[in-house]
Amino acid sequence: MAYLFETFEGWKAYCEKNGISLADSVLEYETQQKGTPKEKIYAGLEKAYSVMKEAVDTGFTQDMTSNSGMINNGAKKVYNYEKPVLSKEFQNLVARALSAKEVNSCMGRVVAAPTAGASGILPGVLYTLQELHDLTDQQIFDGMLVAAGIALIIERSSSLAGAVGGCQAETGSAAAMASGAIVYCLGGSYDQVFDAVGITIQCMLGLVCDPVAGLVEVPCVVRNASAAAIANSSAQIALAGLDSVIPADECVQAMAEVAESMETRYKETALGGLAATKTGQRIAKQVLIQDIEILPDEED
Ligand code: SF4
Repeated sequence: MAYLFETFEGWKAYCEKNGISLADSVLEYETQQKGTPKEKIYAGLEKAYSVMKEAVDTGFTQDMTSNSGMINNGAKKVYNYEKPVLSKEFQNLVARALSAKEVNSCMGRVVAAPTAGASGILPGVLYTLQELHDLTDQQIFDGMLVAAGIALIIERSSSLAGAVGGCQAETGSAAAMASGAIVYCLGGSYDQVFDAVGITIQCMLGLVCDPVAGLVEVPCVVRNASAAAIANSSAQIALAGLDSVIPADECVQAMAEVAESMETRYKETALGGLAATKTGQRIAKQVLIQDIEILPDEED
């Protein structure tokens, strides 16, 4: 009987009792609960990872200008800028997360992991992690399995959707998935993986969903970059042996509680936060006029 991904505590207990890794328990879940053969699961992961990397490369090589004009080839500028703030690796991480997310905002092909709005975080993090630590694709696929297990638990206890839980649920969950995957890939213990999840959620808690003009562009693209950075800082903290104090399960419960008390205007309605600012409103009006102008003439 496979583990059903209800709590992080239960997941750890199951793996310890059965002497299996976090990645293998997700694999077991997929094979037993869904009847998917192991080879097919790995083939799916391979495909997903290649689409993630392709999205990063597309953002760097093709024109990324969105219809609204709010997205305008930003990732290339960050990638090629001559002065790294911390290191070239950090600059690449930020640029890659921006790049894959810009592709989504410009209607290109991405992996919604866990959602399209957060589709830059795992690509930016995994691509950079593999390059820096010379990891094999197989190690990355196992990290993706762990990320999937983390998402399953967050989804059951809280939500992965900005429209339900605010941006904490969307970019916050993706960052938690990425952070857990980093720690797992770098040989962290069960506890360290879940501490990374808990620390990441603590850093993303309360973030509202307020897309300007209702488009998943601003602040979504830059939030993917900052979430990728937070995933890495949390992984660094957890790998060094610092615990999250508040266990990951309780952090997810806190996320659910915050989501419940969040007003509707902060849940992808484009009625609050940045969307409600003077500039946000002006852009929304412009986008609306553009949309009306491109409507087909009824007499045609
Ligand atoms: S602001 Fe809303 S739409 Fe944008 S990434 Fe966050 S949750 Fe998604």
